[in-house]
Amino acid sequence: MSSSSIANSQKRILAHIALFPSAGIGHLLPFLRLAAMLASPGNYCRVTFIAVQPPISAAESNQLSTFFASHPHINRLDFHLPNPSHFADDDHDPFHARFRAISRSVPLLHPLLSSLSPSLSAIFADFAVATDTIGLAEDLSIPLYIVSTTSALFFSLMACLPDLTFQSKNVSHDIQLPGLASVPISSIPLPFFIPDHVFTAHIRLNVQYLQKAKGILHNCFDWFESETIAALNNGRVLPHLPPFLPIGPYKPYDQGVENAKAGSYLHWLDGQPDESVVYVSFGSRTALSKEQITELGNGLERSGCRFFWVLKTTKVDKDDKEEIQEVVGDSFLERTKDKGLVIKGWVSQEQVLGHPAIGGFVSHSGWNSVNEAALFGVPILAWPQHGDQKINAQVTEETGLGVWMRHWGWFGENLVKGEEIGEKIIELMRDKTLRVKAKKVKEEARKACEIGGSSHKTLQGIIEALK
Ligand code: UDP
Ligand code: UDP
Repeated sequence: MSSSSIANSQKRILAHIALFPSAGIGHLLPFLRLAAMLASPGNYCRVTFIAVQPPISAAESNQLSTFFASHPHINRLDFHLPNPSHFADDDHDPFHARFRAISRSVPLLHPLLSSLSPSLSAIFADFAVATDTIGLAEDLSIPLYIVSTTSALFFSLMACLPDLTFQSKNVSHDIQLPGLASVPISSIPLPFFIPDHVFTAHIRLNVQYLQKAKGILHNCFDWFESETIAALNNGRVLPHLPPFLPIGPYKPYDQGVENAKAGSYLHWLDGQPDESVVYVSFGSRTALSKEQITELGNGLERSGCRFFWVLKTTKVDKDDKEEIQEVVGDSFLERTKDKGLVIKGWVSQEQVLGHPAIGGFVSHSGWNSVNEAALFGVPILAWPQHGDQKINAQVTEETGLGVWMRHWGWFGENLVKGEEIGEKIIELMRDKTLRVKAKKVKEEARKACEIGGSSHKTLQGIIEALK
């Protein structure tokens, strides 16, 4: 934004919105994108971004610094957790433990938010801090919008969780969610079978007072999940839910001149033919087992396709110290050097998916990744690993954006052999029908975000209501 347009919009600021994400890059990135969208010229919004400190991953710290360097007009409010590692983590997932630590620290935000000038018009808070933030918004006498970071179908499952009991994952049957498509029992996240598990207990807590929120913001567009969104909005899933508001896919934001400089992988992609490369990534916090990594490497090699593989061996990036050669072996790298590129570390996924050389995406179907694939029309081979990902994969397949390898199971269920992986990658890269369907999804996503499109209109309506 130029300095004159910033000065101009500051004169006319009419709504002041605080954005409050929870832990993990999968939560931070959509909030940063939303912040940039809200604070764009013409919206006349002031945005205060609550940056929880310290972040768990290096990726979160880096994204925060680069974002604020290129968005000086957004007010950064650092929120230092008094005791970030205090809460015991019974599933050894530092992100889940951090969800709780953030939730319990919410009362400390009150003095920071009540002293802001101009005073706040609303808080947009992560579903993972919903219950605690409702009290905060009530104290400040402002509306709260909940920001969902998952599919509408998984959100529906979470909303119904207090009324559901899952006995055994070994009995094969479907779960019929009220008013919705059925979900196979094998798609239910394993922690949901343990009622006092930290993941399950935290979600149950957060659905308790959903009806007190003014609305639920959804990173997706109406066309993609229209039946589920309609069921949520007409009370078929649960009575008294606030409006479920699709306002995505959130647009990648301008990273500024400094950070737009291309990584070496982008130069490598520049040298590859259009739609010839399969991109393989399981998001920011999923490491496959060593055996599975070997089989995946084997599959990529067997496929004979060009590939760009982002490798992870730990949940938290700061712990990931192994060299690529130690993980996949020098001989693999030597044999595949003309066909593939393996990277360890952060890549700009939106730039990768937007690159013309990319023709397919082997993905864990994290919700942000699904939306990015939709925005760029890249067909997905969905290989979910945990949490909401099987249900996201179901949605992805139903829309035609991808195919879901159901029988591959998720983390720890099966060791999928390289032979089969290779065959499926060939099918993905040759499937012209899927490519056409993915392009159609891209068209619909772009239509929704254009001026007058469904997501654009919904977001404008929310902003107008706050003025
Ligand atoms: N991401 C990225 N580069 C990486 C790893 C992840 O840009 O090297 C981004 C990706 O584009 C997405 C987010 O991080 O926006 C990950 O969110 P997602 O919901 O896909 O999965 P999660 O990491 O939460 O499992
Ligand atoms: N979630 C939550 N509390 C928890 C764990 C998860 O509210 O303790 C929600 C979170 O908002 C996310 C969904 O459950 O949308 C799936 O969580 P998961 O950990 O699988 O994925 P994440 O989005 O954190 O990568």
